[in-house]
Amino acid sequence: MDLFSCLSPFVFCSFASGSSGNCYYVGKQDEGLLVDVGISAKQVKEHLSRNDIRTESVKAILITHDHIDHVLGLEKFTKDCPTPIYAHSDCLLGLAEGKATKGTDHGLFHEVEPMQPFGLLGITIEAFPVMHDGRGALGYCFDFEGHTLTIATDIGMLDNVVKDYIRRSDNIVIEANYDTEMLEKGRYPFPLKQRIAGPFGHLSNEESARFIAEIYRPEIKHIMLCHLSENNNTPELAMQCLYHQLSRRHVRLDTNTSVFPLPRHRSTGMVYL
Ligand SMILES: [Zn+2]
Ligand SMILES: [Zn+2]
Repeated sequence: MDLFSCLSPFVFCSFASGSSGNCYYVGKQDEGLLVDVGISAKQVKEHLSRNDIRTESVKAILITHDHIDHVLGLEKFTKDCPTPIYAHSDCLLGLAEGKATKGTDHGLFHEVEPMQPFGLLGITIEAFPVMHDGRGALGYCFDFEGHTLTIATDIGMLDNVVKDYIRRSDNIVIEANYDTEMLEKGRYPFPLKQRIAGPFGHLSNEESARFIAEIYRPEIKHIMLCHLSENNNTPELAMQCLYHQLSRRHVRLDTNTSVFPLPRHRSTGMVYL
């Protein structure tokens, strides 16, 4: 058996992660979904092509919420390639009114009911509500024939619902937005600092690291830290914080597990789930 025949056919690929744009591809190489289109349609197509994914392989788009860093290129991408769009009903209202998205064809809109599993391309998907100040903010949990992935980005705090979905996943994309000290000492105006650190803002390195240390099991394949702030974080600080929390709990990562931050603008390449 060669190396590639042992790999799962299911992949995750991040094209961009952070407040300047978010876009992920999940599924098989020849057929999959985008989660968020927060970069330009041109950039999405470039990332797809660089990763040997044909644009026509994108069969659906799931949206986490209507903030611009998650929907910037949605209207243009779906104008060029009409693709069904799945989101919470409140988010769809937000898209219909949003400056960058109001021209999106409403005929493509599909409402997602939180905590109600639905199937697309043989993938079982469950959306769950997250505490964030975007309209109808959701996280997504995927079950690809037993390979599980949860994407939990833009979360003000980890409530029990989010924790449950992450806890049962073998692949985790979790926000590590800011280093508390950098945010406190940084130049952001006080109300913005309060919003970021508040219950409807973003997760700090420490909040996500503590939680990962609490739920870690050796079966976990990938832990990917997402949506790192450009001004209030660095990939090194986010990783240091995670290793610190793991060692505080005497947790040793299994050789099976990889941990890494998602780059802001670069693609991760194929991550096999
Ligand atoms: Zn965001
Ligand atoms: Zn947001």
